[in-house]
Amino acid sequence: MEIIINVTSFNNDRKVTIEDEFRRLVVTKPSTNLNLNTLEQIVITEECGQEILSFQQRYGIEVTGHTSNEFVTAVGKTLTWEEDGKQKQTVILDWRIAPALITEEGRQFASHLIHHELCHVHDNYHRSVIFGKPIPWLKKGDLFSYLHCHADIVWTEYIASVVRPTLLYI
Ligand SMILES: [Zn+2]
Repeated sequence: MEIIINVTSFNNDRKVTIEDEFRRLVVTKPSTNLNLNTLEQIVITEECGQEILSFQQRYGIEVTGHTSNEFVTAVGKTLTWEEDGKQKQTVILDWRIAPALITEEGRQFASHLIHHELCHVHDNYHRSVIFGKPIPWLKKGDLFSYLHCHADIVWTEYIASVVRPTLLYI
């Protein structure tokens, strides 16, 4: 797994500290109870929305952008793509999570957000094993497609919220 830090205000020492902390999070509990075999990269970026959009375009993933409105702005997104017939996944995180992770006050909050995305990686893997390659529903544009999209979002956010606290007690 590769960790890419695209944050101009971080010097090299800070990048190394943050990278070490991310690696520690992924190889210790509760992450060890997740199936993260398909996780290729964690990208920490100053331009979260733009990074998600260009990643979706680069890998031919259905372009859905990320949540950003008057109520909430997403700070992370897990993207799934296929290479050589194999599922791969990337977690893109807003840069503001990184400094929080290395402070006493911010660690718990930042770890929760990162584990939430890792739960998506785990769920995406198991769903691909059960259902195969996801269908690009939005391109169809009919009512059933929109209902499917909504059901998909509800499921993924529900299961990520349920799986994470469960893993803490295993
Ligand atoms: Zn989520």
